[in-house]
Amino acid sequence: MNILFIGAPGSGKGTQARLLSEKYDFVQLSTGDLLRKAIASNSDVGLQAKKFMDQGMLVPDDVMISLVQSWILTQKNKSIIFDGFPRTVAQAQALSSVLLNQSLKMDFVIYFKVDQSDLVTRLTGRRTCKSCGEIYHIEFKKPKVDGVCDLCSGVLVQRTDDREDVITERLHQFEKNTEPTIQYYRNLGALYELDSSSAAEIVFDSIIKKLNLGKIG
Ligand code: AMP
Repeated sequence: MNILFIGAPGSGKGTQARLLSEKYDFVQLSTGDLLRKAIASNSDVGLQAKKFMDQGMLVPDDVMISLVQSWILTQKNKSIIFDGFPRTVAQAQALSSVLLNQSLKMDFVIYFKVDQSDLVTRLTGRRTCKSCGEIYHIEFKKPKVDGVCDLCSGVLVQRTDDREDVITERLHQFEKNTEPTIQYYRNLGALYELDSSSAAEIVFDSIIKKLNLGKIG
């Protein structure tokens, strides 16, 4: 089963994708994480992507499509949660062809809806583990020890693009490019709209119900 989580930055896609892949048999494709790793390893893709990411802009479609295409080929038919890709209509169309070529399909597209006014608070307060990528929040999801990841004891940092000036551009890119992508899936009759303003556990329960997955734990 392949699932797409689509929504604005800060709408909770990453948190839910991590939860789902920890508890069920999914691999998470977070294109943001993939790009941050590429930057950390100084690869060509990382160098190309950094200048866009630092400004809150989208990395060009051709770079993203080839990155995702190669990644999918390494997954050998595992169930995938797409988190952060596609973000443009061109990416969505390319993904459909890539999946079709592999005799795969997108089974569910879930749109994470949150009030615009909540997004800035969610993003500016977000802290991320430098080692494992676990996501925290200075008010809503505090770690047990300040600044330290509960899971791996890594250091919690604020992403450089979670600062207010960059967030404005990221939200603008969402409206300009990703809202039309959401409409693309809506037109295909494939969109499930989820209110993701509730607590993470409640949102998670709605997702597993929608996906018809048995409750674990
Ligand atoms: P994220 O971690 O999903 O918030 O992504 C962080 C940044 O990575 C975005 O602001 C973009 O600059 C870049 N990025 C991630 N996914 C994509 C994508 N599908 N298309 C273009 N840029 C992307």
